[in-house]
Amino acid sequence: MKDYYEILGVSRDASAADLKKAFRQLAMKHHPDRNPENNKESEEKFKEINEAYTCLSDPDKKSNYDRFGTAEGMGAGFSPFGAGFGDVFEDIFGDFFGTFTGQRRKRPAKGTDLRYDLDITLMEAAFGAEKTFEVPRWENCADCKGTGAAPGKAPATCPNCKGSGQVRFQQGFFSVSKTCGKCHGEGRIITDPCKPCKGQGRIKKYREINVRIPAGVDTDSKLRMSGEGELGLYGGPPGDLYIFLGVEEHPFFKREGMTLYCKVPVSFPQAALGAEIEVPTIDGVTNLKIPQGTPSGRSFNLKGRGMPRLGSHQRGDQVVIVNIEVPKHLTQRQKEILEEFAKINGDEVSKGFKEKLKDLFAGTKT
Ligand SMILES: [Zn+2]
Ligand SMILES: [Zn+2]
Repeated sequence: MKDYYEILGVSRDASAADLKKAFRQLAMKHHPDRNPENNKESEEKFKEINEAYTCLSDPDKKSNYDRFGTAEGMGAGFSPFGAGFGDVFEDIFGDFFGTFTGQRRKRPAKGTDLRYDLDITLMEAAFGAEKTFEVPRWENCADCKGTGAAPGKAPATCPNCKGSGQVRFQQGFFSVSKTCGKCHGEGRIITDPCKPCKGQGRIKKYREINVRIPAGVDTDSKLRMSGEGELGLYGGPPGDLYIFLGVEEHPFFKREGMTLYCKVPVSFPQAALGAEIEVPTIDGVTNLKIPQGTPSGRSFNLKGRGMPRLGSHQRGDQVVIVNIEVPKHLTQRQKEILEEFAKINGDEVSKGFKEKLKDLFAGTKT
């Protein structure tokens, strides 16, 4: 059984700060990259130090270790060299070991994905559309070819690190490397910055994007345009552009999936006597037969006049809801006719309603 306290050279009641300090010193001393002549041996030692610290720096693992004194007592999932290794290391040292962790920033990386919100009309959603818009993205500055230095003025070697991107300094007994703060590890600095990009080496450019919107899209539909996102880094592929669609409200049609709803005004005589009325659809005006005695709020289905299903020729229905309009202003003649109508019919209506009420409330106390 390994004694983690002994490995780190600390007492059993060492504080978290003491543990960290001891680990830091030992890790620096035994890091394999710092001991090229006996690499194998220092690697073993380094692993041991890391194992001890991984355990003792975690309050749960530490209490298990103190109680059971065995690695087995630490429960499932404990892996001293597992995924947590890099995290602990990064956490403690940050970019302190820039030389050891390598030039990870220079690895090829895919560009960032971009999002563009595009509003379209209901008609465009119904029949599809060709849309053109502009999307900004960072591109290499053409004037300096991405170097950031003014034309003809090549970037100078960093005087601080002499081009290595690393500076060495003394830490206790050890000489340690650190990323150069002046050039941020690039090894070069720009003395005469390129004017168009202000030395950034890149410029925000608005690019024209053409996209074909397929028929049947709805709000929250997304279109992906491969490779139209931000450019990749260090030779990596560009990201993608995601177009988030929003379908504007239509003044006449309400959409629910593939169904279109609309309200059509109908006069009282039309509803009472029956009529053929004109109804707008997204394909144009069509005729609809209203049977005699149609009550207000009744709906009629126009088959296949709704929205198309995305990627198919199938179409939903249009639901027409009739709304019987009461005239606000009447001429003298209209009044007379209606009064006469009421005289003939009025009692009938109220009698029928009274009967209905009686049925509804039969058996209940009123
Ligand atoms: Zn430039
Ligand atoms: Zn430098």
